[in-house]
Amino acid sequence: MVDQLPLLMNELPKEVRLIAVSKTRSVQEILEIYNKGIRDFGENKVQEMISKQLLLPQDIRWHLIGHLQTNKVKFITSFVSIIHSVDSLKLLKEINQQAIKSNRIVDCLLQIYIASEDTKFGLSFDEAILLLRNPELKNFENVRITGLMGMASFTTDTDLIRKEFRSLKEFFIILKKEFFKEDNNFKELSMGMSSDYKIAVEEGSSMVRIGTAIFGERNYNKN
Ligand SMILES: *Cc1c(COP(=O)(O)O)cnc(C)c1O
Repeated sequence: MVDQLPLLMNELPKEVRLIAVSKTRSVQEILEIYNKGIRDFGENKVQEMISKQLLLPQDIRWHLIGHLQTNKVKFITSFVSIIHSVDSLKLLKEINQQAIKSNRIVDCLLQIYIASEDTKFGLSFDEAILLLRNPELKNFENVRITGLMGMASFTTDTDLIRKEFRSLKEFFIILKKEFFKEDNNFKELSMGMSSDYKIAVEEGSSMVRIGTAIFGERNYNKN
């Protein structure tokens, strides 16, 4: 499985960051990928991320890609690289408060809901705009909104997947003009997983989050 990694790294344009999604993988499996040069790893659960972070090399950049509960923010703000799953002002406020304690500025992406299927997580376009208009936001000096994250529908309909990624890119451009014109940090589009990263890259992704194409199928029973 690991043999697929060089191919993947070759195939991605240099400006697209590869995040190895290591949820359910052992420290040993992660080290194997680390030793091939990967430094960005993504986890979807806070507890799992903390325990791995303690055991693995300190130059790993950890990405929180799953839903984040407010009461767990304090466990990750001292080391997390990017939180991809910000979906409320309340969460952003807590990230700011905890980031102050760690004397850090934490990069955050707004998770936008683009799939046509029902999911619980992410902001609609309208909700994202309302969040960005909230006057409270300018007080959050220890968070930096650096872009958007989105997940396409789980489907074999590649036209639909492309349409959804394209809608996220278009929304990104709108937000850039409206809220981040002078802000060069707003530049990330986290989109694309094992099954759809090629389409995502064609549609302007700057970060792909890839698990199974690097590590093989996940076995949730192992944990
Ligand atoms: C698990 C996960 C991925 C990676 O999925 P693969 O299909 O294994 O590449 C990407 N993003 C999120 C948010 C995930 O939870």
